[in-house]
Amino acid sequence: MIKTGIIDFHTHAFPDEIAPKAMAALTKAADIKAYADGTINDLLRSMDRAGIEKSVIANIATKPGQFEPIIKWSAMISSERIISFASVHPNDPARIDNIKRIKDAGLKGIKLHPFYQDFFLDEPRMYEMYAIIQELGLVCLVHTGFDIAFERIRRCDPARILKITQDFPRFKFISTHFGAWEDWADVKEMLLGKPVYAEISLSLEFLDPKVARTMLMAHKPEYLIFGSDSPWADQQNALRLLEELDLDEKLYNLMLRENALRLLGE
Ligand SMILES: [Zn+2]
Repeated sequence: MIKTGIIDFHTHAFPDEIAPKAMAALTKAADIKAYADGTINDLLRSMDRAGIEKSVIANIATKPGQFEPIIKWSAMISSERIISFASVHPNDPARIDNIKRIKDAGLKGIKLHPFYQDFFLDEPRMYEMYAIIQELGLVCLVHTGFDIAFERIRRCDPARILKITQDFPRFKFISTHFGAWEDWADVKEMLLGKPVYAEISLSLEFLDPKVARTMLMAHKPEYLIFGSDSPWADQQNALRLLEELDLDEKLYNLMLRENALRLLGE
């Protein structure tokens, strides 16, 4: 496995003054454990321990009004090592203009979450947003599959993912959690081998290693991307789980760095 220049395409962090409260609320709501305190400094310490060069921070606007503080904070924390994605709520009346503002601010992408933002992946209002995101060349990192903190509703399942990626062939749409969290039977059937970007956070922790290895090898190598979902997983452990699968060097290089750099235009 490569040891330098690793990019983690899925992490979370919060402004220092919000982090303690946000982390307490999120760990309680989903009944999950956190492996970092939710601050940028702790993320950087985790990256140093794990040997990760850059992390993408996936901010989520859970209300339309959160667009402003998130874009402001994203611009402020962006650095050589931190790539912060902004977020637009689908109920935001200014959603189209705000997507343009993300591009104008020099940010590389946008994070959407069908559960926290109450939408279905293939709604008409989402199609309007995807069209402009695709046109601007922004990366769109989308929570897909079920969510540990919510009732099991098929808001963003493999059939919908396939439809979106077919309807928007130039869209840098990235499914998360290896296609769709805990919906991996459908991922195998519908997405593997297709041109659908799959970031793999919180999947190796749940899948049998043999199954995970077979799935990784069945997908298009240039469409696989490493992510941890830190602080909801430990970055070092996420890398260790991947390393234990003993994949070939070329695939590791693509997953851990090259595909991410290409998507980010770096
Ligand atoms: Zn996440």
